[in-house]
Amino acid sequence: MSRKIRYRCSDCGYETTLTTGSSGAGFHDETEELEENLKNDTLKGKYGALLRRIAMADSDSELYYDCSDAVFQCLDCRKIRVWRRRRIVNLEPSREQYGLDINIRHKCPDCGSSFFSEVVPRSRPVCPNCADGSMEIVKES
Ligand SMILES: [Zn+2]
Ligand SMILES: [Zn+2]
Repeated sequence: MSRKIRYRCSDCGYETTLTTGSSGAGFHDETEELEENLKNDTLKGKYGALLRRIAMADSDSELYYDCSDAVFQCLDCRKIRVWRRRRIVNLEPSREQYGLDINIRHKCPDCGSSFFSEVVPRSRPVCPNCADGSMEIVKES
């Protein structure tokens, strides 16, 4: 299911439309492949010793490696784009396990900044055009 989100700047009127969850061919397979890679990379220690230990302790496979897409914004260059999450989550921990929700940081693909993070629902990203106003969701479909 794809979702279209249109943002408009309350100051300068700049608009941008983003589509997440593309229903295009291959999207689901690509997501599964990314999630498998994220799991393998975590187990190999690519994201640090702590995450490696957490991944290795997950003998009941309770952890979910989430590579779904979402709206991200870079706080340096202010570009807004749809990007894949790199999230490790365990929202329904058993007695032996614990609740976990970790977002592995990305670098901005445009400027390399590490202030590149997901725009959480209902938050208002800074306008990439005037850098002054905030972007409001004007249409979702
Ligand atoms: Zn950037
Ligand atoms: Zn603006």
